[in-house]
Amino acid sequence: MEQNLTMFSLKGKTALVTGANTGLGQGICVAYAATGANVIGVARRSCQETAEKIAAISGNFTEIIADLSDTNIIPRIVEEANKVYGRVDILVNNAGIIKRCDSVDVTIEDWEAVININEKNVFFLCQAFAKDWIPDKQGGKIINIASMLSYQGGIRVPAYTASKSAVMGLTKALANEWAKYNINVNAIAPGYMATNNTQNLRSDKQRSDEILSRIPAGRWGTPEDLTGAAIFLASDAASYVHGFTIAVDGGWLAR
Ligand code: NAP
Repeated sequence: MEQNLTMFSLKGKTALVTGANTGLGQGICVAYAATGANVIGVARRSCQETAEKIAAISGNFTEIIADLSDTNIIPRIVEEANKVYGRVDILVNNAGIIKRCDSVDVTIEDWEAVININEKNVFFLCQAFAKDWIPDKQGGKIINIASMLSYQGGIRVPAYTASKSAVMGLTKALANEWAKYNINVNAIAPGYMATNNTQNLRSDKQRSDEILSRIPAGRWGTPEDLTGAAIFLASDAASYVHGFTIAVDGGWLAR
């Protein structure tokens, strides 16, 4: 039987990816453009490097500069995004921060900074696009970036663990409400990936060795490792997948 690979194509779709200037978000932007999508990158700094990578493959990319620590920014992001290519079809909530500190020393400011970006604004971005997608009846795809710490406790990152556990819970909660509108809400839980987010961890030889020795694949992941799952969940191939978090972790959770 001939495989219908067009179901994996994102041609003609528009994807909005937060945290698009670097790391996993940049990798997803480039992969989506390569698969035919128009890409809108949201970031608080210029996405010049992402734009250049996408221009090199003749893709379409537009950036929206916005600081996602402020919820009030969301209506502007949605309004601007809808103007660029007409309609956003795919939302990837990727922007996130981590703060390492013993739990007894965590400040309210640091707690709120992590929760606002990783959890609160993920919810309100989902809500903002669903408010457009439910009445227009064209459906949509939401992909939230979770973490191994959606499953595990982690060490010295309590706010991050709380926020990423919430991301996995929210993914299920929103799927339960919105699946009937052809809105697919799913998540990807990256394992330990070599990006800015893990720079401190990778610089700590003891922690880095501990982590590496537990990864069955025997290496840190790369932004490219995440792109297959990101394309799948954004595509028509995933239209009956709802509320699930796919781990892309080199086997970490299998241990
Ligand atoms: P990264 O290189 O640090 O990228 C994080 C992205 O989020 C950057 O684009 C960053 O922009 C953006 N961001 C942070 N605060 C923002 C704000 N206030 N407003 C707008 N954008 C903001 O890390 P990454 O590894 O690619 O992380 C991407 C996602 O994957 C995060 O949600 C992270 O928690 C998750 N994750 C990563 C790993 C890993 O091992 N790397 C594992 C599990 C989950 P700036 O460059 O301006 O800071």
